[in-house]
Amino acid sequence: MVYKKGIKKDKKLSIKKGKKTVQTLRGMKDVLAKDWFYYDLILNNAKKIFEFYNFQRIETPILEKAELFEKGVGEKTDVIEKEMYILKAKENKELLALRPEGTASIVRSYIEKGMFNLTQPVKFYYFGPFFRHEKPQAGRYRQFYQLGAEMIGGGDVVADAEIILLSKLFLENLGFSKKNIFLLINSIGCPNCRPLYIKELKKYYKKLDKQICSDCRRRIKENPLRVLDCKNEKCSLVKQGAPPILDYLCPECRDHFKALLELLDYLNIPYILDKTLVRGLDYYTKTVFEFCLENETGRISLGGGGRYDELTETIGGIKKPAVGVAFGVERLMQEMVRQGKKFKPTVPKVFLVQIGEAAQKMSFKILEQFRKEKILLGENLGKENLKSQLKIADRLGVKYVLILGQQEVLDGMIILKDMNSGLQELIPWEKIVSEVKKRLKN
Ligand SMILES: [Zn+2]
Ligand SMILES: [Zn+2]
Repeated sequence: MVYKKGIKKDKKLSIKKGKKTVQTLRGMKDVLAKDWFYYDLILNNAKKIFEFYNFQRIETPILEKAELFEKGVGEKTDVIEKEMYILKAKENKELLALRPEGTASIVRSYIEKGMFNLTQPVKFYYFGPFFRHEKPQAGRYRQFYQLGAEMIGGGDVVADAEIILLSKLFLENLGFSKKNIFLLINSIGCPNCRPLYIKELKKYYKKLDKQICSDCRRRIKENPLRVLDCKNEKCSLVKQGAPPILDYLCPECRDHFKALLELLDYLNIPYILDKTLVRGLDYYTKTVFEFCLENETGRISLGGGGRYDELTETIGGIKKPAVGVAFGVERLMQEMVRQGKKFKPTVPKVFLVQIGEAAQKMSFKILEQFRKEKILLGENLGKENLKSQLKIADRLGVKYVLILGQQEVLDGMIILKDMNSGLQELIPWEKIVSEVKKRLKN
């Protein structure tokens, strides 16, 4: 637990001087209504697009055996080495991990549930929280949401194209314009051809050892492809001169990549070949891609993915080719805000004011009538006097106020007040919903 000293003298926070309060962990946040607005938009949009293409929603546990990710994602990746949250189980001291990404768990589920017996490929999509112990920075959280899709059991190039096409549609439907987003694509080969390339890459980097950052000096030994991903300015020149992996692909990888590019052309999906595009996780083979946009702060990656033909076997199943994509939800949200998509809370147009105990109780029945007719009715049943309730109604800017007092309860009536004209009418309870409906229509 992290305890922080309470902020002194701030009445709004109702924290007493010197008192310690429990706060959220560093890099974590509460997801409030204004965030859910975007999260819901993103999820509903994904549902529409992916479900049409027969992707089914899956939610794997947040907690898994740590070895799943060590095996699947790769022990020498930053995600596993530095960023994974590890816990020790009380009963058997087994190491558990808060999931740092989605693919390994879905592949685990695919194998565990025998889904290789179903019609292939099996298609999934998911939305949920993931955890990485990264250095917190603007728009980056240690608990973050990802939206992703996976197709397991499909080796044909149509699977890569389908994932890319749906990713593009998903972004466009969220309001990102065709002109803004662009697709970077590369192939990083397979276990047959990659070793030869890595040998060449190491040879090249060895010569330029003095010109690269210390991270890259480590990477070239432990996880060589990752040097191509280095954002360090020093390294970018070296990177540009590195041998292009596409020149080292085996015939199978080359044919696959060529066929994919042809299919993207056919589908009218523009792309940029990026010979330095590699992904942070070890399981990728052949196709890798990323969707980016350019804004005033530079190039922003919205999401990406690729093929992972070896992962089912690595995790302990039979070999099944697969391809997937994942989007950082907070990143999407940040860009949606930047592009002017604003959260507008739903505000009622009618407010119910109640005075006295009998009216307070009766209010539940009135509220139920409105709920059944799907008309939003504002209330604050905890408040007792007329003035304070009218103040709330005023702040909400409602068109009508319903007033229920002691006398109205006895008569079975309710006062309907038009806030514009100030006119008041007495209306029987059973007619109030239809009367309000009529007025809201005009
Ligand atoms: Zn290959
Ligand atoms: Zn570097």
